[in-house]
Amino acid sequence: MSGSKVRLNAVKAVTDFERSEGSVNYMDANPTEFFGENVFNLATMQDRLPKSVFKELKNVISTGAKLDSELSDIVASAMKDWAVEKGATHYTHVFYPLTGLTAEKHDSFLEPDGNGGALFEFSGKVLIQGEPDASSFPSGGIRATFEARGYTAWDVTSPAYLLENPNGTTLCIPTAFVSWTGEALDKKTPILRSQQALNKQAQRILTLFGHTDGAPVGSTAGAEQEYFLIDKNFYYARPDLLMAGRTLFGAASPKGQEFDDHYFGAIPERVLACMHEVERELFKLGVPATTRHNEVAPGQYEIAPIYEGTNVANDHQQLIMLTLKKVADRHGMACLMHEKPFAGLNGSGKHLNWSMGSSSQGNILDPGDTPHDNAQFLAFCAAVIRAVHKNAGLLRAVIASAGNDHRLGANEAPPAIISIFLGDQLTDVFAQIKKGGAKKSKKAGTLAVGVDSLPVLPRDAGDRNRTSPFAFTGNRFEFRAVGSNQSIAGPSVAINTIVADSLDFIATKLEKATKGDPKKLNRALQSVLKEIITEHGDVIFNGDGYSDAWHKEAENKRGLPNLRTTVDALPELTAKDTLALFKKHGVLSPREMKARQEVYAEQYCMNVAVEANVVLEMGRTTIFPASVRYQGELAVSAANLKAVGIEVDTDTLDKVTAHIKTLQDTLNELEDMLANVEGKTILKETEFYGRKVLPKMLEVREAADALEGYVADDLWPLPTYQEMLFIK
Ligand code: ADP
Ligand code: MG
Repeated sequence: MSGSKVRLNAVKAVTDFERSEGSVNYMDANPTEFFGENVFNLATMQDRLPKSVFKELKNVISTGAKLDSELSDIVASAMKDWAVEKGATHYTHVFYPLTGLTAEKHDSFLEPDGNGGALFEFSGKVLIQGEPDASSFPSGGIRATFEARGYTAWDVTSPAYLLENPNGTTLCIPTAFVSWTGEALDKKTPILRSQQALNKQAQRILTLFGHTDGAPVGSTAGAEQEYFLIDKNFYYARPDLLMAGRTLFGAASPKGQEFDDHYFGAIPERVLACMHEVERELFKLGVPATTRHNEVAPGQYEIAPIYEGTNVANDHQQLIMLTLKKVADRHGMACLMHEKPFAGLNGSGKHLNWSMGSSSQGNILDPGDTPHDNAQFLAFCAAVIRAVHKNAGLLRAVIASAGNDHRLGANEAPPAIISIFLGDQLTDVFAQIKKGGAKKSKKAGTLAVGVDSLPVLPRDAGDRNRTSPFAFTGNRFEFRAVGSNQSIAGPSVAINTIVADSLDFIATKLEKATKGDPKKLNRALQSVLKEIITEHGDVIFNGDGYSDAWHKEAENKRGLPNLRTTVDALPELTAKDTLALFKKHGVLSPREMKARQEVYAEQYCMNVAVEANVVLEMGRTTIFPASVRYQGELAVSAANLKAVGIEVDTDTLDKVTAHIKTLQDTLNELEDMLANVEGKTILKETEFYGRKVLPKMLEVREAADALEGYVADDLWPLPTYQEMLFIK
């Protein structure tokens, strides 16, 4: 009887695994001593570059000015010396293709010296620009194969770093990836463009409020990353986890997350050892990962860094994902970043905390101390409200993926309806503005009516609302609908751009109304705020986003879109207004937007197709045989008993037989379906996969999961939910 060998071996391997306490013990490791030691940061540059060069480079970094070739040669040489001293032999231009992954192509510093030997060389030209063989990265039609060239260009504003692997160290240079025509092929380029757009419009508003220092305004991002850790032995024994990142089969465990005992419990020691090592790696890379805790589902955890400027935060986010996977592996675990690895349990998100600020203004979404500051805060806050309401469909589209669809709308993650939670106090202030001017803040104790007839707002973070996709949390917005596996680039770019557009709208009105007279500002602002809240106030919702009542109200009374799946959401990327908006602010051209839509649609179809093929394979070669063996056992035993005159109730056999039949039928139907892919365009093809293939896969799963409830445990071939989630 060998049916369950794989599974039983896995269970044995997990229980036998020698758990170590890990290599990082905070009793003798002081993070301040190694934080940033593998980063070519400002301090290192100052150390190693001639004074004038450092000054010039610093200027380039803070203003985004052009880097001349003489300067880049000096920087490259210093960077190489530093890297080589620390053991590097290779360098790579790191870039972020549209697949959401991190791409690297390594080259050696080694060059022949002409006398039969070799030396390490690294020129400014090589630092600044690379030409990876990029034809295999999806471009959404931007690059036909005959023009397959793509260039990587050094992003001076994100520091280079060293990635240490057991067999060598590599100098990593963050880059933007563009086609030879200059069109963006990656996720970094639009971040940089959208930061510029945001800055341009924010400066206009700040100028109206008398802040003319010009310190660049940019968005900030702090992303809370949720993930699962399970033992590697289970991972390798589940083709679905290995191929698709989520379980495509699996009956619920008798105990799930209902006791909240994992959430509030202590971090298991094996996991803590892993987390410590993750942190050490990240600290060395200058990633300020400071928060860690258990999450709701058994086996689920979270890591969150301190926020940074969006561009660097995005690079660091990618490093966090890579590091988690790499280090978990060292500890005998697999890190699952899929949005829904286990049905029936909470999935994983990546809450994107978003704000904007500058060196002179600090956090612009922090309500101020004076009525004047508050007026400015309300202007920026209103811009976000307008932006989110006008572009709800777009915001849904930028978080659309095959994985995230399983999470949005379930009673664990925010619904697919994009609304804003503002908290009672701020909602009340806007309600008063709508009526004709805010005079009072709701809490009597904190009331302070200023000359501007706008109240002083208390700096209280307000209530938390875990059901809102876009929640104001006191000094920032938290976009909670982002998926755990996703890059934060897409959502960040979208928010930056739509907010820039609303700031543009507000600035234009205010400039017109004040004509340079600051005394007219308050009245003008009152009127714009009133207009915005009247037109866009429907997007504000402080109640329970999970409730049915909200779904009805959002759709019927407020007309908010409810784009349930990626299939519904992706068309939004090329809506007429969206294309115009992204073009106007110079973030993405219509061609670039369409290319992105095409790539994301392709990714969706490929993901579902792979999953469907795994369902076929596992259904036929793993679950069906085990079930039939058990069916045989039941039949033989029934026949034997009958032969000696014992009456047998064949109820179980009949049920097993019926489920086996359903399994077989639905597998055949799925196979037929996959042999005839429908859809003339890639968007039509997403409809085929989303509306036909996925439901069919679920039918197969239902039959298989039912069989798991009957088949003898010693025959069942796949590690169960119970084993994967609870044996640590
Ligand atoms: P919670 O789980 O309670 O939402 P966490 O501490 O886990 O809070 O995460 C909050 C995240 O928000 C952190 O990454 C934090 O750095 C980030 N954050 C705080 N202020 C800002 C800001 N101004 N802009 C962007 N992100 C911010
Ligand atoms: Mg958190």
